[in-house]
Amino acid sequence: MIDLQNISKIYKTKNGELKAVDQVNLSIKQGEIYGIIGYSGAGKSTMIRLLNGLEKPTVGSVIINGNDISKASGKKLRDARQKISMIFQHFNLLWSRTVEENIAFPLEIAGVSKEQRAKRVEELIELVGLAGRGKAYPSQLSGGQKQRVGIARALANNPEVLLGDEATSALDPETTDSILELLLDINKKIGLTIVLITHEMHVIRKICDRVAVMEAGKVVEQGEVLQVFQNPQAPITKNFMAQISGETQEIQASLEQILANYPSGRIVKLGFVGQTTEQPVISQIIKQFDIVVNIVHGKISNTTSGPLGTLFVHIEGSNDQINAALEVLAQHKVQTEVIGHD
Ligand code: ADP
Repeated sequence: MIDLQNISKIYKTKNGELKAVDQVNLSIKQGEIYGIIGYSGAGKSTMIRLLNGLEKPTVGSVIINGNDISKASGKKLRDARQKISMIFQHFNLLWSRTVEENIAFPLEIAGVSKEQRAKRVEELIELVGLAGRGKAYPSQLSGGQKQRVGIARALANNPEVLLGDEATSALDPETTDSILELLLDINKKIGLTIVLITHEMHVIRKICDRVAVMEAGKVVEQGEVLQVFQNPQAPITKNFMAQISGETQEIQASLEQILANYPSGRIVKLGFVGQTTEQPVISQIIKQFDIVVNIVHGKISNTTSGPLGTLFVHIEGSNDQINAALEVLAQHKVQTEVIGHD
């Protein structure tokens, strides 16, 4: 569906050349939700401008549905860009137009008749859950409702790809979730390919199928969300993981306290991915071995491909018994990491 082949975008600045995007290869499949995560300055916005044809790569090709949009110009580029829609962090609505008129705007530009416009707008208002709000002005809407208008407007001309540029970053956590659920719902209903640029791991965890992690213009890690979460490789990915694994400074401090209180035993971090969270493995090891297990802290969250959880436990017992218990956990595909008193 989308193929980024060895793309680099180099800007010439006063201080020499700056590689905003550096030799990126990415392949996004039809109908998937793909997340690109990175901190500020990683090159995400540049990637979005390359994906929507606003900028051309210095090197490489951006192929969307077989069309190399990095080589296209004029009508060909305009046609290709029509198939790509965007939603934005600050919604970018027209403030003097009602909800209906905002959604109708791209249809007007595309020359759709008044009658068909009205029909399509009604469908879209229904789809994004804004029934009854069609005559309202953006200033009368909540942030979440404004983004729903943004989504409806982006879908008006039946795009093939929806790009989200930090689309939930201006929303509170609850509204963020409702917008992410709406995007997932639309993705399922109409099989729309969605690419989300974000700095929040929560967005990736909640709805993305695959993820690419960007740092200094490079994709440092990419893959299935669950797999990347299960076994993050790059240090920056591990940092992002801390956003959702509940490993706050508070937890770190309390783990240190526990280690001080219990001079023996071990503190172990257990990672559960997918099916393993369903299995009563902890009770199994307690029964099977001569050990005492205290759960110190835990958090289980869901991804689109299964549950994901982290538990911190303190295990008391002889070295042999603890090692054997950890071995059983590993056999059940629970990741174990001893973080104290090894
Ligand atoms: P992000 O969206 O992840 O914050 P950007 O794509 O905006 O990252 O920026 C990546 C790098 O490229 C930054 O160092 C930024 O300063 C630089 N950059 C982006 N756009 C331009 C431009 N038009 N001219 C020069 N440098 C740019």
